[in-house]
Amino acid sequence: MTSPNSLEPFSPTLDRSALRPDCGNCFALCCTAFGFTRSADFSVDKPAGSPCHNLASDFSCTIHDSLRPRGFRGCTVFDCFGAGQNVSQGLFAGKSWIEDPDSRSDMFAAFAAARQLHEMLWYLVEAQTRTFDPDASRRGAKLRNTIEQAVGGELSDLLALGLQDLHSQVRSLLIEVSEEVRASYLAVGDDHLDAALEPGADLMGQNFRSRRLCGANLRGAYLIATDLRSSDLSGVDLLGADFRDARLDEADLSKALYLTQPQLNAAKGNHATSLPAFLEMPSHWQNG
Ligand code: SF4
Repeated sequence: MTSPNSLEPFSPTLDRSALRPDCGNCFALCCTAFGFTRSADFSVDKPAGSPCHNLASDFSCTIHDSLRPRGFRGCTVFDCFGAGQNVSQGLFAGKSWIEDPDSRSDMFAAFAAARQLHEMLWYLVEAQTRTFDPDASRRGAKLRNTIEQAVGGELSDLLALGLQDLHSQVRSLLIEVSEEVRASYLAVGDDHLDAALEPGADLMGQNFRSRRLCGANLRGAYLIATDLRSSDLSGVDLLGADFRDARLDEADLSKALYLTQPQLNAAKGNHATSLPAFLEMPSHWQNG
């Protein structure tokens, strides 16, 4: 058994490949099942359950290369955590909602549920990867097994699944692992942390440039347009934090906790931003 003193987490390498979008094997479920409202993220209204007017018949996007300039920034932020291909090719065996229009409502409902479940799987993998506690890792594995069975089982079971109880169990474990991880960063005291750095904090537009924020709990915090350039976010709990237009140039997020691709996609950064190996630099960062 790996001990905490070995400085290795209990489950150091867990595969996340099934939790990455594979749009080529998806029936553009995010472009049909979900609705959106005209805003800074979308230039038009679209009701849920109807195809976007930019969607081609082969499920590709006709404006893929110019989504941001065309007012569809929200599309570049969204991530299904691999639910799209799972529903399209697994639950519906490769038969699209165009081929079988009667399947539309079930397919879209399954996608909505599977997307939440895949996101939970992503966070559980992260918790298992970061914890040194074998019991927490075991409970994470058990929850993952329950969720994997739900998304890989019968459609009727998935549609009847109560997500609230699962959400609550996953959340408890994520919080427990967060406390463990953050405590290790606060071992030398939390004097470096501002009292305002708390879960759900409104830090919109504030300046934390070049600050050491290690071990802070920013779960659900509003970091919209917050200046985090050159800051160190190692061991910071970022579960559900709102990163829209946050400035991340030269920041160190390589050991941040519960960071996701949609959060990065919503933020601004550059080549010098340090990211975890399992996340990608958004293309709009590369283009400046
Ligand atoms: S603009 Fe393109 S990516 Fe966005 S919802 Fe429409 S088809 Fe999908």
